[in-house]
Amino acid sequence: MKIGVLSETVPGERRVALVPDVAAKLTGFEVTVQAGAGEAAGFTDEAYREAGAAVESDRARLVGASDVLLSVQPPPLADVAHLRKGAATIGFLQPATQAAAVEALAARGVTAFSLELLPRISRAQSMDALSSQASLAGYKGVLMAANRLGKFFPMLMTAAGTIPPARVLVLGAGVAGLQAIATARRLGAVVEAYDVRPAVKEEVKSLGAKFLELDLEAQEGQGGYAREQSEEFLTRQRELLGERVAAADVVVTTAAIPGRRAPVLVTAPMVHGMRRGSVIVDLASDTGGNCELTEPGQVREVQGVWLDGTTNVPATVALHASQLYARNVTNLLKHLAPEGELKLDFEDEITKGCCVTHGGQVVSERAKQLIESAAENTRR
Ligand code: NAD
Repeated sequence: MKIGVLSETVPGERRVALVPDVAAKLTGFEVTVQAGAGEAAGFTDEAYREAGAAVESDRARLVGASDVLLSVQPPPLADVAHLRKGAATIGFLQPATQAAAVEALAARGVTAFSLELLPRISRAQSMDALSSQASLAGYKGVLMAANRLGKFFPMLMTAAGTIPPARVLVLGAGVAGLQAIATARRLGAVVEAYDVRPAVKEEVKSLGAKFLELDLEAQEGQGGYAREQSEEFLTRQRELLGERVAAADVVVTTAAIPGRRAPVLVTAPMVHGMRRGSVIVDLASDTGGNCELTEPGQVREVQGVWLDGTTNVPATVALHASQLYARNVTNLLKHLAPEGELKLDFEDEITKGCCVTHGGQVVSERAKQLIESAAENTRR
């Protein structure tokens, strides 16, 4: 079976779907990588050749020859037009915002797998690219904040006096949030965190952070995820969080609701209540941001407070992000093609969960819901 690896075209996307080390272990598959695909992540064409992969400079030819096309971002429509009927794609298809790509893949008769839709069950953990990338974002988000903050993170006792530790507040303690807590703690900050899911309280505490107990009752989600809370809940949450936000030197926000716009947890008045020089890193900026003043893709200063809305943070740690992504994607590939040929069992929870298009149709109910709810969000 022929595996093709695309060079990413989305601006700022430095990751690559397959790295040489992982390509070398893909026995039983013929791997071709687009020339230059790994360059931004630190992998040369030569390294891929040494790993046994072929390097192709003609993108359309690579796409047309692939049985399975691997990418990080959804394949652009121009590439979909070159895919063969019956070929497969694996990547972050982002069905909520990429309805046109989903439709085009279905119309082309391509079987497309979306890593966002992988069920979060133990058996799929080694394929869970959302988690591997979120973890990197949590780590890097804290470093971005530390870099901008005009203060030390750790407490320092020096001959010139004692410097108190920085105070970090993490909102949303999922995969990214927990890694942000761990990183901030390692740098010596005093950390507190809040999440609507009380289940994470013990994890937060075990990382040496304080879990903020707010006098609020959240609506339970499914499968370990948060669900969208009512506007009354969010208003009360903001009131209760205001004082903690004002006390923080750094706020890292990671709160997301799958397929929906991120909830606003930090309003403009809350930002104005922060000390000058404080930093907010909004890791939810890809889905609109948790801070009302975040401008996705921009870093700006508002009345002395820094708002970092950098999008696609995992791409700024491209080497390790690609390495982990490549392992996730090849573990899924081996699950779908255990003997070197695609053998799709739609009774299987993993295959069924993440397959979006097959046989000329959009087969995933979840993808249809996400597309519909994104369209509804736009109409609102
Ligand atoms: P996510 O990126 O969808 O959301 C990040 C966090 O934001 C979540 O913890 C969520 O509860 C929180 N959040 C949402 N609305 C909020 C609000 N109004 N205020 C505060 N916090 C809010 O989530 P994620 O990090 O991808 O994963 C969430 C959970 O899924 C994990 O913590 C875990 O329990 C589960 N999970 C399971 C597996 C597995 O079993 N294989 C793998 C990964 C994740």
